[in-house]
Amino acid sequence: MSHVFHRNLKQHYPMAVKGDGPYLIDSQDKHYLDASGGAAVSCLGHSDADVIEAIRRQVGQLAYAHTSFFTNEPMESLADYLVAKAPEGLSSVYFVSGGSEAIEAALKLARQYFIETGQPERKHLIARRQSYHGNTLGALATGGNEWRRRQFEPLLIDVSHVSPCYAYRGLRDGESLEGYAIRLAAELEEEIQRLGPENVMAFVAEPVVGATLGAVTAVPGYFTRVREVCDRHGVLLILDEVMCGMGRTGSLFAAEQEGVTADLITVAKGLGAGYQPIGATLVSARIHQAIADGSGFFQHGHTYIGHATACAAALAVQHAIEDRQLLSRVVQLGEGLHERLDECFGSHPNIGDIRGRGLFRGIELVADRDRKQPFDPDLKLHARIKKAAMTHGLMCYPMGGTLDGRQGDHVLLAPPFILEDHHLDELTDKLDRAIQDALSSL
Ligand code: PLP
Repeated sequence: MSHVFHRNLKQHYPMAVKGDGPYLIDSQDKHYLDASGGAAVSCLGHSDADVIEAIRRQVGQLAYAHTSFFTNEPMESLADYLVAKAPEGLSSVYFVSGGSEAIEAALKLARQYFIETGQPERKHLIARRQSYHGNTLGALATGGNEWRRRQFEPLLIDVSHVSPCYAYRGLRDGESLEGYAIRLAAELEEEIQRLGPENVMAFVAEPVVGATLGAVTAVPGYFTRVREVCDRHGVLLILDEVMCGMGRTGSLFAAEQEGVTADLITVAKGLGAGYQPIGATLVSARIHQAIADGSGFFQHGHTYIGHATACAAALAVQHAIEDRQLLSRVVQLGEGLHERLDECFGSHPNIGDIRGRGLFRGIELVADRDRKQPFDPDLKLHARIKKAAMTHGLMCYPMGGTLDGRQGDHVLLAPPFILEDHHLDELTDKLDRAIQDALSSL
């Protein structure tokens, strides 16, 4: 009997023993094509020699030095690298160990910024329904993922949730994409007005919605309008790129493709590519300056922030992405993947939508394609697909509750940037078989 408190106490997990490029291998020597990078993490696959060597070198030199005593070279170099590549205005980086911690740091930085600038009444957060920002209490409260929040609701701070930008289901008959973007920006502004602009601290959103909606991009102009609304009312914009950032959509930061910058951007997952646990919050010069000119001290911190080995690994990952020109490869592979998904599922009666950007793709399953009617949630189609995919040697990231936290099923794909074209065929073929098996088991 295992003494590990596993995620699901009713499930048996195969033992992962080895990584080989885009494959994970279990103790029975079964190979799984990692088409989701775990949860959009392993962008360089599982055996990158350069990253492994960078970790080895750093541990040999200096594994860790507590950041209340020292700075360290990998942390300084990684911060320089990220700031040089980041959207305009972001000038410093607060390093943490994962996505939820990055969000918590962003929320506290936003709050402290308003304290330092004499606006202590600004405390309200606005985020979107059908979003995910992490599982620590502040991040969970921020997210609009109903089923994850439900039982912890009494512990969560009050956060307003407005509509996601989800054209497949949110666009009204006859409405243009521009009209939709205008309507959603107006909804955000109404919520700011309702709360009183002087009380609102920040709006938080994923540029491309990951786990909860399955690779949903915003319609053109949505984020520029959101940025205008925030600016009009002195509200900070926090973009959560924990899943969609670090090259996943074909640009290092997803915000680049929306033509906006943010006051705070969170990243994790692809930052360290799973070789080390690391996340980061990129901070605008304005926020950094306010704190530097004020208390001079961000009242926060964890034991492992700025971990030297984690930063060295992340720097090696980022150099690999740049040196091997993987961003253009993400765009190319992404198009190849989309074409194959379209070919395989484009006229499938139970696939309602195929979407995404770069190597961040999603398909939404429906019982009735014309009426976009979801499957009965009690059937747990998403869980059946995940199980069938594992049987076929494929890791993908299906999730339920796509519409409202209960109804709807989708599959998220976020494969490594190092795939060869034949892996795309293998991926589509195995996914097709997994979906067929899951549907025929209903
Ligand atoms: N934000 C987004 C957009 C995420 O997708 C996730 C994780 O899936 C998180 C935050 C939380 O990250 P972590 O699981 O590393 O705490």
